[in-house]
Amino acid sequence: MALLEILTAPDPRLYGKAFPVQKVDSAIRKLMDDLLETLYENNAVGFASMQAGIQKRVLAIDLGERNNFFRKPLLMANPELHWVSLETQVTKEGCLSVPNVWLDVIRPLEAHVSYLDENNQRQHLKAKGLLADCIQHEIDHLNGILFIEHLSSLKREMIMRKLMKNKKNKGSL
Ligand SMILES: [Zn+2]
Repeated sequence: MALLEILTAPDPRLYGKAFPVQKVDSAIRKLMDDLLETLYENNAVGFASMQAGIQKRVLAIDLGERNNFFRKPLLMANPELHWVSLETQVTKEGCLSVPNVWLDVIRPLEAHVSYLDENNQRQHLKAKGLLADCIQHEIDHLNGILFIEHLSSLKREMIMRKLMKNKKNKGSL
């Protein structure tokens, strides 16, 4: 396993679209392991390949103790949302690609998703609550969407200015 680079906004690579994988072979399994290791190392609950500049539709999620009904890492290739509920939830979200920003995001409370697991088997999952939120956040990454896109444009601009400033400060050290 290896730790992956983490891109932060406004890196243009975060705004592209990831390509489906042909099948989950040993190379994709290794990518899944790397995503998971990077997630654990950074105390995150989800990490998508696009955040490491890899344009493949692959992501890893582990909510650990915070998930009551799925107590193991979820590794997904080519995830597809088939249905989301009209009922919504508000979740305080953060993202490794948008460091030090935690904001309330409104998303559907439930989401049905299908995906290829680490053994190349098609799986269907009916997720609710935090897991549903996390799956939607990570699938957004594969479509080049950051969670701050769900906020008002004014709020988003404020955050982007802050991120640019942080990057500049880092560069000047
Ligand atoms: Zn994220």
